[in-house]
Amino acid sequence: MGASATPGTFDRRVFLASTAGLLAAPWLSRRLPARGSRTRLILLGTAGGPRPKRDNAAPSQVVIANEVPYVVDCGNGVARQLVLAGVSLQQLRHVLLTHHHSDHNADYGNLLLLAWSSGLRTRVDTWGPPPIARMTSQFLELNAYDIETRIADEGRVPLAPLVHVHEMAGPGVVLQDDNVKVTSALVDHPPVRPAFAYRFDAADRSIVISGDTAPSDNLVRLARGADVLVHEALYLPAVDRLVARVPNASTLRAHIIGSHTSAEDCGRVAAAAGVRTLVLSHLVPPDDPEVTEQMWVDAARPHFAGEIIVGRDLMEI
Ligand SMILES: [Zn+2]
Ligand SMILES: [Zn+2]
Repeated sequence: MGASATPGTFDRRVFLASTAGLLAAPWLSRRLPARGSRTRLILLGTAGGPRPKRDNAAPSQVVIANEVPYVVDCGNGVARQLVLAGVSLQQLRHVLLTHHHSDHNADYGNLLLLAWSSGLRTRVDTWGPPPIARMTSQFLELNAYDIETRIADEGRVPLAPLVHVHEMAGPGVVLQDDNVKVTSALVDHPPVRPAFAYRFDAADRSIVISGDTAPSDNLVRLARGADVLVHEALYLPAVDRLVARVPNASTLRAHIIGSHTSAEDCGRVAAAAGVRTLVLSHLVPPDDPEVTEQMWVDAARPHFAGEIIVGRDLMEI
């Protein structure tokens, strides 16, 4: 991918170079599925930040390729969101975490445990940055009482042997199977390192999930020519109203601005990468009645001519 290990500042040259490439735009002719159904993308939760919210779930999405689900991030409530999306927990197969902030991993272990207690009896592979291996083993230990009770009481198979953890320190090809090729890039989300974005290449479409990041050249390269880019998005005028609610407002504001991406820059990244559709998700703020859907679109629109979708929970794209 040519992804650099050094999270860099956003390079305007990348924009210009790829804007020129738009003229060719070979990805505008959508390829047909080789087999099976269309690769699906369902946004499970679209609200940025760990604070539980009344109307929006925490960040998570699932790519379903040839009926196999690949869950990306496990914000609070991900198991329930999968159920609401009609995805069988017994079929859980791959779980990928972008980084270790609680809005992305709070229910990582819970998803495994609750899928298992819903009847999962088959292998699950999980992928993410360190210390995902230790988190997994300690989660299983934390819940040993329930697990052992259900094995004895309900005849379930042991959970630990089903879970295969892959700890990834750097970017590259994550996995490749009959359904998809998944590739990661390092993105820029200080102070959390590493933080990854993931790209899914299926027979019929390509989907990129940004994870949390400031505007990232690595992400532009990863997303080049993709059909869909799901990008985290910040509505800048509302940030001050948002941080006013916490005691350390100035520190939080600096963190938010320095490690996330405004809706305007989401448009720039999407244009630079030459994607077909930009999906704004991990919305901050997600639930400010003064920030309408049209305002999100209007922020990104001057910078990106393609389709712009404002993500909502359980939306399928
Ligand atoms: Zn986040
Ligand atoms: Zn984060």
